[in-house]
This record gives sequence, structure tokens and C-alpha cells, in this order.
Amino acid sequence: MTNGFRALPSVERLLAQAPIQELARAYSHGALVGLIREELQGQRRAIAQGMATPTLDALVECIRQRAAAAWEAFPQPVVNATGVILHTNLGRAPLSKAAIRVVALAAQGYTNLEYDLEQGERGSRQAHLNTLLRQVTGAEAGIAVNNNASAVMLGLAAIAAGKEVIVSRGEAVEIGGGFRIPEVLAQSGAKLVEVGATNRTYIADYEAVVTENTGALLKVHASNFRVVGFTYAPKTEELVELGRRRGVPVLHDLGSGCLLDTARFGLAHEPMPQESINAGVDLAFFSGDKLLGGPQAGIIVGRGELVQRLGRHPLARAVRLDKLSLAALAATLVHYLKEEATMEIPCWRMINLPLPLLLRRARHWQRAFGPGASVLRGESTVGAGSLPGETLPTWLVALDPGGREGGADALAARLRAGRPPVIARIQDDRVVLDPRTVRAEEEREMVRVVREAL
Ligand SMILES: *Cc1c(COP(=O)(O)O)cnc(C)c1O
Repeated sequence: MTNGFRALPSVERLLAQAPIQELARAYSHGALVGLIREELQGQRRAIAQGMATPTLDALVECIRQRAAAAWEAFPQPVVNATGVILHTNLGRAPLSKAAIRVVALAAQGYTNLEYDLEQGERGSRQAHLNTLLRQVTGAEAGIAVNNNASAVMLGLAAIAAGKEVIVSRGEAVEIGGGFRIPEVLAQSGAKLVEVGATNRTYIADYEAVVTENTGALLKVHASNFRVVGFTYAPKTEELVELGRRRGVPVLHDLGSGCLLDTARFGLAHEPMPQESINAGVDLAFFSGDKLLGGPQAGIIVGRGELVQRLGRHPLARAVRLDKLSLAALAATLVHYLKEEATMEIPCWRMINLPLPLLLRRARHWQRAFGPGASVLRGESTVGAGSLPGETLPTWLVALDPGGREGGADALAARLRAGRPPVIARIQDDRVVLDPRTVRAEEEREMVRVVREAL
């Protein structure tokens, strides 16, 4: 083992190798030496566990790969062939062309982000969004923050800190990625009061625990799971009526900012912010990068006086939306006002893709991939915790790994190692690719990566 250690080259020797010298020309000496030391440390651990000492060339290649992984552009584009439209691990919603344009402009130069061009003085970054959010949701006012988790946190902190917030037991849920309603409530300084049963909660359950200490009634859309069977939850209107009667604000965390009726696309109906506002909730919260199809953002719409109170809260500054996301969000909202969302916003265009077109593309891929590829019916999903259990019919191309070692897992790994990486699904020991989530511009490169992997 000690011999194995001694056989490892020194940092100096590695620095003298041609490929490492190339790295030395691009990156700082300190950074490169640090990276080489990390690699050597990893190798020593591996040797201690009984692995063989790598050759000099293999070690140089490991260092090159380590440098590429750490210092090449991140995040790198991947081809999403999974058929999961809002894939949380792949960055959720792709932006529209118009949104990408305004992001580039806002990134490259100065903007009137907080500058009133008419008066020549300080303006508000929220004023423009406020107008757009009112127009798309029908609410009195709206603001946007960093993401929906922070939107809910801000809302609870500004409205109910030090007070009790009543939540149905069936809605004290975990959304994923560490967002748990009971924990968010605790962080905001409000106290959770759970009512009802996991599957059934009635308006009388809420009413029974309303006191002068109640800060809010909170309704949460259980985005990523579905309780079926013997279930009951009061209508939003009933909560609003109770809130009005007892002088308690009603808050609604919708999760997805679904501004179009999903039933139009053969899916179950996803709750919409406009419906909550219509029903009279005081504040509604939703994400910008789920079914809204925009950038990461948390949006709060509702009664003007409450929205203003949130805007003035110290946390509002801490969870402020940055200028690039703000630009993309404004451009995305305008697509809804122009009634062009299903044409311009990628997630809606993907949801709306006609089956015959998907079949045509699948057949085209099959021919391009060659023998071992076949076309079959399958299902795409919306993802990002929207519409759990709901699927859209699609056409898939299945790749048979044949007798090759590692089977479908190894083939999927070769696709991920491609340039660009192609992310696929495994189904019945075959790798399947769904044309729904692959842009036409990506097809050529994807076909090359797949052919190489086969
Ligand atoms: C997704 C979701 C959140 C978190 O939203 P982010 O924008 O990811 O922070 C909060 N509440 C519900 C109900 C959700 O579905």
C-alpha cells in the first residue's frame, strides 16, 4: 500500500506533463495545484482501499476531466428526452424566445430597472410587474420574489408572525427539496394549528379553532401527490366566507402558476390563480417556473393593502427577485396578455404538441438511429409537482441495448456522457426517448450522440 502511494507522481512531475501545461496556461497556478492535490488525495484513498496505482497518463486524464467538470461552463445544456416537461433536475421551464431576448439585454447593459425615465429619479422594480400581474390574474396587486418558497415565507412572516395559522391536516405537506409547510410556518414565526383528518377536513373544523389569536387560514395545493377515495376539503369560497366573517385573511399556496385551463389539453384541471382571486382569497402564491413557463420566481397576488405590507417587510429585500428573472417574468406574462402562450411559451407548446407530429418525429428518429430502434406508444408527464398521476399520450423511440454489457443502464450512461448529454428514460430494460421535450434544433446533435452510443 505504501508502495502504491510512493508510485504516485509528485505535483511537480504532473505539472510538467503537456496536457497539464495546457491547463496551466488557462488557469491560475494556485487553482491548478489545488486541483492536482485533490486528485492525488482521492487516489491515495482509493489505493488505501486496495485499488491499483493509476498510470501517469491515466492520472493526467483524471486531472483534465476534473478541471473540465469544475471549470467549464456550468450549467451545460442537455437534451431532455425524458418526456418530463418541467423537469426539476434539468432546470424546470425553458424560457420563450422573447424572454431570452430581454434577459440578454438586461444582462449586457444598464436598464431602467429602478429608474423612472419620466421623472429622472428612483423608480420601483416592482411597479411594472404589479401592472402585468393585475392584468393576468385580476388581482388588486402583485409582487414577485425569488421563488415560491420565499413568497410563502414572506407572506406568513408579514401577516401572521406571532399568531396562529390554521392548516388542514391533509395540506401540511412536503413539496420536495426541503419545503415542508410545518417547517416554513415555524421559520416565519407563525404557529401551525392543524385541523381535520388527513383525508377529510370540513369548514367547521377550521371554524372551531378560530380565535382572536388566528393570523391566517392557509390553503395549500398538495401539488405532488393525490389523495383519492374518501376525501373532502372545503371549497375556497367557504374558507373565504369564514375568513371574512371572522376577520381573518385567507392565504392560498397554489404551487404552480397555471394561468391556462389544463383541461383544454386533456389533463385534469390544475387550480389557477385567477380562480383563487375570483373566489376572494386575500393572497395567492405561486411559482414562476412551473406551469407559468417563466424564470424561477415566487409570485404573490391579492389585496392591495396586504401586498403592500409584504413589500415593506424586511424579508422582502432578502428574497428580492434579480433583474434577469424579473425581465424574463415580465416577458412571459405578456405572452398571456397577447393570448399566444401555447405558441410562444415552451412548456405550453410541448403540452399542446399534436400526436401525429410526435409520431412523425419518432419515426424520423427511428430511421436515423438505425436497427435496434423501434417506435411505441407511451406517456409524457408535466413534472415539477404539477398534475401528479396525469399523463399526455405520446410516441417514444425505444433503443434496444442488445446483448451489450450493462444493458439499458450502460446505454443510458453512454447517452449522458455524450456531447451534448442526452437524458433518457429506462422502460422495460430499454432506453426510451420522447420527442415531446426535445426541440427541433437539438435533433441533429441528439441523433449523432445516440448513434455513437449505439
Ligand atoms: C413547488 C411548490 C412550492 C415551492 O415553490 P418554488 O418556486 O419551487 O420555491 C411551494 N408550495 C407549493 C404548493 C408548491 O407546489
